[in-house]
Formats: sequence, C-alpha cells, structure tokens
Amino acid sequence: PTPPSCPLGREVLGLFTWSFLHTTASHYPPSPTPTDRLQITNLITSLTHLYPCTDCRADFKESVSKNPIEPHTKNKNDLMIYLCKRHNEVNVKLGKKEFECDPRLLDERWRTGFKGCET
Ligand code: FAD
Repeated sequence: PTPPSCPLGREVLGLFTWSFLHTTASHYPPSPTPTDRLQITNLITSLTHLYPCTDCRADFKESVSKNPIEPHTKNKNDLMIYLCKRHNEVNVKLGKKEFECDPRLLDERWRTGFKGCET
C-alpha cells in the first residue's frame, strides 16, 4: 500500500475511516452478544464526538442522532446497511455515486472480495 499523505487530508482520512468501519461491520457477528452491541454503538457514537474533521463530524452527529445506531446492531446485515446509508448521505452531499446497500454486495466489497476487485 502507498503510505498516506502527511498529515492526512479529509479525503484520505475519510477513505481510511469508511474502509475500517465497513470492514468492521462485514466481520460483525450474525448474532452479537450484548457486549458486541455496546462496543459497536460506542465506536460509532465516539466518532460523532471525536472524528477529526469538524464539519464532517457535525453532519455525522446529526445523521446518527436522527438515525440512532443501537436498533441496527442486532445483526451483521442490519449494521452493514446502516453504515452504507450513513456513507451514502455523505456521498450525496459530495456529489459522489451512491453504493447499493445490499448485504450481499457489501459483503463482497468489504469481506469476501470478488473477481477483479484487486485491480
Ligand atoms: P469513499 O467515499 O471514502 O469510499 C471508499 C470506498 O467505499 C469506495 O471506493 C466504495 O468502494 C465504497 N463505498 C462508497 N460508498 C459506500 C457505501 N455507501 N457503503 C459501503 N461502501 C461504500 N468529506 C467531506 O468532504 N465532507 C464531509 O462532510 C464528510 N463527512 C464524512 C463523515 C464521515 C463519518 C467520514 C468517515 C468521512 C467523511 N468525509 C467527508 C469523507 C468522504 O466521505 C470520503 O471518504 C472522501 O471524500 C474520500 O472519498 P473517496 O471517493 O476516496 O471514497
């Protein structure tokens, strides 16, 4: 992998953060424990306080407060779709293409891979 810019700009930071979040969701258990649910809720909520891009954080905070994460931590598919929708809100704001929030496609993109995805 190419080393990131120094310091990270919002684009690279965003790309790495979404990659981490979607990858984490794709490895989330189908039947999470109460601790799993609490920890993923804490992870997402912490970004609404700490994410180091002020206006990104403000909009993300508004989105998470309108769409609380906790009910979407009951299984992996719900969590993947929840994060996909949050990411699509930013995509729309930035004029980027939306991703189809289908668990099969999300799993392929972020966990199992698909033919040609290395290129
Ligand atoms: P990214 O948008 O970073 O996407 C990376 C890859 O994820 C894509 O190549 C695609 O394969 C996949 N992908 C795309 N959409 C989805 C989806 N919906 N679900 C699953 N996978 C998907 N930038 C700003 O300028 N303003 C903001 O307000 C802002 N808010 C942000 C809030 C958060 C919480 C985060 C983490 C980032 C935010 N960013 C913001 C950064 C922005 O979302 C992008 O990460 C950045 O612009 C780089 O974009 P990119 O085109 O490299 O791909």
